[in-house]
Amino acid sequence: MIISAPRLFLGENFTPPGAVAVENGRITRIIFGDVEADIHLTHGFLAPGLIDLHNNGAFGVDCASATPEEWDIFISGLAARGVTSVLPTAITAPLADLAATAQRTKAAQARHGAILGLHLEGPFLAPSKRGAHLAEFLRLPDDAAIAEVLEMGGVVRLVTLAPELPGALAAIAKLRAAGIAVALGHTDADAPTMRNAAAAGATLVTHVFNAQSPLHHRAPGAPGVALTDPRLSPCLIADGVHVAPELLAIAFAACPRAIAVTDSIRIAGLEPGAVREFGGAPVTLGHQGVGLRADGTIAGAGITLDEGVRRLIAAGVTPALALAAATSRPAQALNLPDRGTLTPGARADLVWFSDDLHPLRVWTAGVTHSTATKPRGTETARPELANLDERGTLEIVQTFLTQEQAAQRALATAAPALARLANAVAAKLQAGGRLFYAGAGTSGRLGFLDAVECGPTFGIEDGLIIPLLAGGTEAFIKAAEGAEDDEQAAITALTTHHFGAGDALVGIAASGSTPYTLAAIRHARALGGLTGAIVNNAGTPMAEAAEIAVPIVTGAEVIAGSTRLSAGSSQKIALNTLSSTVMIRLGKTYGPYMVDMRATNAKLRRRALAMVQQITGANEYDGTLALTACGMHVKCAALMILRHLPAEQAQARLAAANGSLRRALHNQEVNTGPA
Ligand code: ZN
Repeated sequence: MIISAPRLFLGENFTPPGAVAVENGRITRIIFGDVEADIHLTHGFLAPGLIDLHNNGAFGVDCASATPEEWDIFISGLAARGVTSVLPTAITAPLADLAATAQRTKAAQARHGAILGLHLEGPFLAPSKRGAHLAEFLRLPDDAAIAEVLEMGGVVRLVTLAPELPGALAAIAKLRAAGIAVALGHTDADAPTMRNAAAAGATLVTHVFNAQSPLHHRAPGAPGVALTDPRLSPCLIADGVHVAPELLAIAFAACPRAIAVTDSIRIAGLEPGAVREFGGAPVTLGHQGVGLRADGTIAGAGITLDEGVRRLIAAGVTPALALAAATSRPAQALNLPDRGTLTPGARADLVWFSDDLHPLRVWTAGVTHSTATKPRGTETARPELANLDERGTLEIVQTFLTQEQAAQRALATAAPALARLANAVAAKLQAGGRLFYAGAGTSGRLGFLDAVECGPTFGIEDGLIIPLLAGGTEAFIKAAEGAEDDEQAAITALTTHHFGAGDALVGIAASGSTPYTLAAIRHARALGGLTGAIVNNAGTPMAEAAEIAVPIVTGAEVIAGSTRLSAGSSQKIALNTLSSTVMIRLGKTYGPYMVDMRATNAKLRRRALAMVQQITGANEYDGTLALTACGMHVKCAALMILRHLPAEQAQARLAAANGSLRRALHNQEVNTGPA
């Protein structure tokens, strides 16, 4: 698979147009210049997936207690935001509880490659800087406690501790020897203590400025060392609230190693106003993206890392540095050479970002994230819409329209496949074949609608476009339950219409797996015909079965599984585009004019006359005369006037040009395939 984009962000800098080749979940090549791509991104840029090293939860899920189902929600929710690697973080708790969290995280890690391990934030923290951590569970990093941490196994990847605690320096050395990185945090340490900890092997600093000794111009404290000691990578909460935007700008300008984190809690990724229990009391997600207690105090961060990148840029950090802070910097700090960068050999965690830094499509290890987990993208419920029915009507309307915009962006990436399908269908029709649509429910009705509309619009003969609807024509008006599973009905319908090698069939289904439609595609292909599939999920059986697949990955619907919504809208647009493009290739139009239109009523006769006049510049009298002479056929009348031909000669020349007015005007007697 090759994905091309107008720009690539490789991990440090942006490049000119290029492409990424992916095989077996890994990047195999980076290509610059013109390249034939399977997926051609028309705007924005392609970047490595984001990496969040400090994340307590999101999408309603608390990492410390997550069930397997909750891990699925958490990981797929983050992936939808472009976060393809995460270090789940557990705050101070009894070591036995943390050991249980470690076991659950380890099991989740086996199922989700996005999980990097576990970050223990505590319990070895300074009581004076404990923040929301409970004092009763704080511990000293003595030999017994560190032994308990080491017994949790390799899943523990990072431990945050306060270096001024007795035994801390020895603990740092032991953890490092076991392959566990150490971050300094929740600390009142002075600068020399911070430097001693770095010398002992600490490599990160947890949420710089928050819960640590202050930066004073004569006492640099933890922040002063974090931002200047080359042995340390400072992590900063990028929400612009925990650290003011001005200080974020200063920190990222001062320290090229600075890392953006969220420190998010379970309310992150939900809609503003969402309330969840956290730390024994309700927390509300405020409009600034922070968790608020009932008294208005800040209880935790509530953004996902893509929003953090946007807020860093809003604070004045350059886009390249803000993206590096969320990709290559955390990868380097945690020694993850195959993440956070677009380079051969790296995991194919890719994010297509819009130019304003919103993730449009995400691949995890080369797989579009919506297909990595069940249910499929179009069937997924969006956790942030849990209160949809409680929202204001205008907000509901806006929610639907925003989703439709996302669906249209998905369509843009399907353009090359749609063009290939249009060319192939036009070639079949030009050679005397027919176009069949097959579908069930909304998808089938949309195919039906397109077939019916093409008749009068383009003046095509009956039977050129044949819609096959599961449950038959009656199913257009009355839903036919069960018809979508009837594979034999699809085969029978093709037999009835004598479908053959000269014909084309386009199957339409949001799921990409509707049995009726899948059977139609497989049977049509077995008969030697051209087959296409228009689907709204990635990696579907229909796309696999068809010769030309047009996947339009519109994602989760506002109402879960209601694919008549944005999936249906995208199908309607795809079919309009497909049939109109085919008709243009067949010479049914001349410029923007529908010159093959049937002038069957007074309104259409007036339109036909206006068209002849606009194309030829003739007056009303000459236009009417020519139209009358050739049975109200716009193409013929225009050719008669422009080339001063009698009706019979004009008709003959049109026939020789295969019905193309443009070719007939240039007297080209070609009727080969589409241009
Ligand atoms: Zn903390």
